[in-house]
Amino acid sequence: MEKKKFVYSFNEGSKDMKDLLGGKGANLAEMTKIGLPVPFGFTVTTEACNRYYEENQTIADDIVADIFEKLSDLEHVTGKQFGSVENPLLVSVRSGAKISMPGMMDTILNLGLNDNTVEGLAKLTENPRFAYDSYRRFIQMFGDVVMEIPKTKFDAIFDSKKEKEGCEFDVDLTTEHLQDIIVNYKKLVKEEMGRNFPQEPKDQLMEAVMAVFRSWNNERAILYRQLNDIPGSIGTAVNVQSMVFGNMGDTSGTGVAFTRNPANGEKKLFGEFLVNAQGEDVVAGIRTPQPIAEMAEAFPEVYKEFTRISELLEKHYTDMQDMEFTVERNKLFMLQTRNGKRTAAAAVKIAVDMEKEGLIDKKTAVTRLEPAMIDQLLHPKFDDAELAAAERLTKGLPASPGAATGKIYFNAADAVAAVENGNPAVLVRLETSPEDLAGMVAAEGILTARGGMTSHAAVVARGMGKCCVSGCAEIKVDEEVKTLTIGSDVFKEGDYISLDGTAGEVLKGQIKTVPPELSGDFGTIMQWADEIRTLKIRTNADNPRDAKQAVDFGAEGIGLCRTEHMFFEEERIPAVRRMILADSEEERREALSFLLPYQKSDFKGIYEAMGDRPVTIRLLDPPLHEFLPHTDEEIKQLSAQINVPYEKLAKKTEELHEFNPMLGHRGCRLAVTYPEIAEMQAEAIIMAAIEVRKEQGLDIVPEIMIPLVGLKKELADVKATVVQTVEKVMEREGVKFDYLIGTMIEIPRAALTADEIAEEAEFFSFGTNDLTQMTFGFSRDDTGQIIREYRDKGIFDDDPFQSIDQVGVGQLVKMAVEKGKATRPNIKLGICGEHGGDPKSIEFCHNIGLQYVSCSPFRVPIARLAAAQAAVKAEK
Ligand code: PEP
Ligand code: MG
Repeated sequence: MEKKKFVYSFNEGSKDMKDLLGGKGANLAEMTKIGLPVPFGFTVTTEACNRYYEENQTIADDIVADIFEKLSDLEHVTGKQFGSVENPLLVSVRSGAKISMPGMMDTILNLGLNDNTVEGLAKLTENPRFAYDSYRRFIQMFGDVVMEIPKTKFDAIFDSKKEKEGCEFDVDLTTEHLQDIIVNYKKLVKEEMGRNFPQEPKDQLMEAVMAVFRSWNNERAILYRQLNDIPGSIGTAVNVQSMVFGNMGDTSGTGVAFTRNPANGEKKLFGEFLVNAQGEDVVAGIRTPQPIAEMAEAFPEVYKEFTRISELLEKHYTDMQDMEFTVERNKLFMLQTRNGKRTAAAAVKIAVDMEKEGLIDKKTAVTRLEPAMIDQLLHPKFDDAELAAAERLTKGLPASPGAATGKIYFNAADAVAAVENGNPAVLVRLETSPEDLAGMVAAEGILTARGGMTSHAAVVARGMGKCCVSGCAEIKVDEEVKTLTIGSDVFKEGDYISLDGTAGEVLKGQIKTVPPELSGDFGTIMQWADEIRTLKIRTNADNPRDAKQAVDFGAEGIGLCRTEHMFFEEERIPAVRRMILADSEEERREALSFLLPYQKSDFKGIYEAMGDRPVTIRLLDPPLHEFLPHTDEEIKQLSAQINVPYEKLAKKTEELHEFNPMLGHRGCRLAVTYPEIAEMQAEAIIMAAIEVRKEQGLDIVPEIMIPLVGLKKELADVKATVVQTVEKVMEREGVKFDYLIGTMIEIPRAALTADEIAEEAEFFSFGTNDLTQMTFGFSRDDTGQIIREYRDKGIFDDDPFQSIDQVGVGQLVKMAVEKGKATRPNIKLGICGEHGGDPKSIEFCHNIGLQYVSCSPFRVPIARLAAAQAAVKAEK
């Protein structure tokens, strides 16, 4: 058997090897392959990372041997040697998973330096200061990332030296000062670790590789994966690359750039660079860099070359690229390229533009947009009038577009706590770091004093679609005292501010927001999606306002109209309670007859909003006690209000109490025991249809849905009630038209016996909320914490209430589809659980042959796009 390969030199891979080499490694290999200037190196595979974990966090000897073999190739290609004083090879060690995780994993630069090679580097570059500065940076990074010595301890040594020597800036430190700092850094390492800083470059390398593997499972990385649905099982690769130096004086520099603007999609090179700096200075947002266009003046030749390469890369990958580069003494080196992260607005524009440029076709264009991202385009912007009247406090960089208004908080924990208490938060920081992630997720928007367009805050906020203003130089942030000072205004924790991420403005107070526009490029791409998809998209709506919103978003029908919310309105709830408290059927019918006209007008409003689109209305589903008060106090109050003796009310409430209400007297069980409720609802549904047909000339075919069915006979029982009512009403009114009676499949038994159920049901709508609850035996209302912990432990990759569990619950759905079709080949099939708006679940629904998905109005565009992507994927 051929020996498995765990390490690949950059000239051995390609862009199609992301699973094995990670995104960064695969693209470095690709750039090497097409002849671009890439410092040579090698990639340790993701399989090596997985073996590291399988083998108790150790690296097997065969992998170590492979690494050293590629290291010696690297020495050969570069003509330098690891540990050589005359011509030392220095490398960077970087993580690189298949899916990029910005800021999540750790990087080590200048590896290979030690007490001897540093002297070699000094001689070779004729720049001792540069050499010792590189060495002290290396010890600091290695100490922090590999040895996990708190960075603040290094900072303390560095800062106290600066102070002692009266140096205002880092650059004021001399070679001798840096040498003293190195001595103290090494002392610190010895104290903290009980061993010396490793002098042998090969030991440094192996420790660094393992540190990258370890960092795959640090808290930040785990959180990022959870937020982005990245499985923990894929592991990270490690890239070892010979160093080039952007900090070798004024003919050197480093930068990051996008081939198009990642915030708005404009077709123009966009990015930043810093003269005389090392890569991490740009990405970490420590210094505020210059716009890329200014590079044309600083390095005209290099700029021309870089422009040529970026155009070539975009054509080669047929997508917008995000590139990192370094200039070492006027020579350009490419350190990374990848498909760039972008805002939803930019993604839309880039996809449409690239189709027009002939770079991609429509089917590819619709796959260029993350469905979940378009959420950003659907959410409100500032009201124009209020925005015009608002007081502008200052301007920063428009790091991530959108509008945010909220109370300010100065650290992630406070922002998270505020949001949990119902306060919208704006997170204000000097600069953000990966530790701030939870706060960024919770906040409406993020404001930072430092950092450029590619700083951590900017990159992460754009990825989340969160409004962000960064690099706001005029603000003073005191994170300790918790104040934000802008000019003469001082804002304290809890004060309102607003952020305009599109303009980069900070505004005073709270500002009203308005709905977004859905035309232009967005309209174009959604139209392409509609041409491509085969799944229909319906919505879950139970009032005309939501129904109309959904139609505006492109909904083609209502897949679930829940009727319970309608019963809570002020003028109705007394009648609902009278119905529940009734001692006889007669009394119950009387209360129901009071509700009938309300119900009819509810349904008329919905039919009118939906025009001739299909509407599925579900009979009452929740347990009746939800309509009654619970505490003694509330019972007393109500008893006085509705004039029913306290004892009677208390007794009824107790009677209706259930230990497991979600498994109790609800769904079709209500209609079996109280058929008159179903009669009233059926009459309202048909009367509303009759009237709207007459008044609007609409050809309405009501779809009446019976919930929580587990047995064919219980469905038949309720169906008989409904049919009798409908026929009676039609006869009375002298009309005749089609209507459908179907059921929800949301109890496992219904899925298992779907062939029998289909004898009675003209359609199935999968209620995957209840189906998930009952298949797992997880209470849908109480298990949030358990599921979070399961996800933390990797037991669940996804929350099964958000993304359908395809293996278990999905199998029941698939089986029910097959059984349903076997009995009734033309049965209508859809889904109306929360999963109907989840892109992964939508793909599943497409693949098993459902005809529609139904989701909340704001997810309709997401579903349209996801359905088109599912169709494109299935074709391939
Ligand atoms: C379901 O169970 O999936 C469903 C749509 O019904 P509800 O959420 O109202 O129980
Ligand atoms: Mg349900």
